[in-house]
Amino acid sequence: MSALRVTRVLQSIAQCGWRSQSSQAAQVSHQIKPGAGFSFELSDEQREFQATARKFAREEIIPVAAQYDKTGEYPVPLIKRAWELGLMNSHIPESCGGLGLGTFEACLITEELAYGCTGVQTAIEANSLGAYCVTEPGAGSDVAGIKTRAEKKGDEYVINGQKMWITNGGKANWYFLLARSSPDPKAPASKAFTGFIVEADSPGIQIGRKELNMGQRCSDTRGIVFEDVRVPKENVLSAEGVGFKIAMGAFDKTRPPVAAGAVGLAQRALDEATRYALERKTFGKPIIEHQAVSFMLAEMAMKVELARLACQRAAWEIDAGRRNTYFASIAKAFAGDIANQLASDAVQIFGGNGFNSEYPVEKLMRDAKIYQIYEGTAQIQRLIIAREHVAKFKS
Ligand SMILES: Cc1cc2nc3c(=O)[nH]c(=O)nc-3n(C[C@H](O)[C@H](O)[C@H](O)COP(=O)(O)OP(=O)(O)OC[C@H]3O[C@@H](n4cnc5c(N)ncnc54)[C@H](O)[C@@H]3O)c2cc1C
Repeated sequence: MSALRVTRVLQSIAQCGWRSQSSQAAQVSHQIKPGAGFSFELSDEQREFQATARKFAREEIIPVAAQYDKTGEYPVPLIKRAWELGLMNSHIPESCGGLGLGTFEACLITEELAYGCTGVQTAIEANSLGAYCVTEPGAGSDVAGIKTRAEKKGDEYVINGQKMWITNGGKANWYFLLARSSPDPKAPASKAFTGFIVEADSPGIQIGRKELNMGQRCSDTRGIVFEDVRVPKENVLSAEGVGFKIAMGAFDKTRPPVAAGAVGLAQRALDEATRYALERKTFGKPIIEHQAVSFMLAEMAMKVELARLACQRAAWEIDAGRRNTYFASIAKAFAGDIANQLASDAVQIFGGNGFNSEYPVEKLMRDAKIYQIYEGTAQIQRLIIAREHVAKFKS
């Protein structure tokens, strides 16, 4: 994509937030027609996307997932294949070459891909739009504490600073970068920061090594240093001073799909554990016939169903054009937590085999942990939910 095209895409997205959905999404999504009632039915089109993603995950991702986990290699052939199948850029407006679908549809696809491998799914998803450069070595949860500076000089901004843990950092052609642009150290966050589109090959950018993470190992995560990087003023998203709002608003749109990824992983853990419990015998019968094991599976099923509903509600709200901060954080927190619980329970049901990398569930346990960390930690989600809850209560 040319830089101009990229800037156009991002500017259209920035009007309502990073990785936002097309404004057309609200028109195409059948669920949000007012007065249409409450329905759990998917449309034919949604079912088709779901089935395509499911087939791809089961036939093409699962067979190679362990290998990508072992090598940490970036899954280029799978990304190309996802592109061919029309499973990428679902949320980019049609006018910019995307599918113009809603967050709800994006979540359906994400859950299926994540069932195959959340590392591969993250790599596919992250390719939809550059990379989101906000976190720094000294500030993650406390976004207002970032130190990267953007200084205006004539028609350009000069950027200096360091970003950390940037997904897709070594693969993206361009970044969304949040920097402090106000020279006033007392300026409030709502005015102090600006969001920029920065070309990844701009002079002064040094991309760090690929980080070796606990899970989702084929996803590309890096630190990036910006040293006197010159960015034209046209690459400011929306306007100077509103970057914090853009960066935070983005989460309302990205948290439902991230939660959907956690649901996909949780469903996989449940399916693997169920299959194993039906086959493995102790004391003369399949372990599923021991009530303690079948009740564990029942608890797992309850959690995965509820997490899916939470994701769908959060996605549905945003597609309906409503502020979904409360639901997005509930979905992210709940799905992240239960993905960890289910992966751990699956390991337990596999017994000693669960602890071994020849079986699929230890990878699930490693892959699950990040869902309680990125896109806002489990603790930060609770801060948001409590804040939103109290505001609703008082209103
Ligand atoms: C694999 C990976 C990919 C990532 N991808 C990206 C990306 O693409 N772009 C990007 O910008 N960032 C990315 N991140 C960064 C991620 O969003 C941060 O790591 C996360 O927000 C936490 O920030 P931190 O690591 O600085 O932890 P800290 O903010 O230092 O938090 C440390 C601990 O303290 C807790 N804590 C902090 N403040 C509070 C509080 N007020 N109340 C209660 N508990 C609190 C946290 O919950 C956490 O448990 C990624 C991280 C990883 C590991």
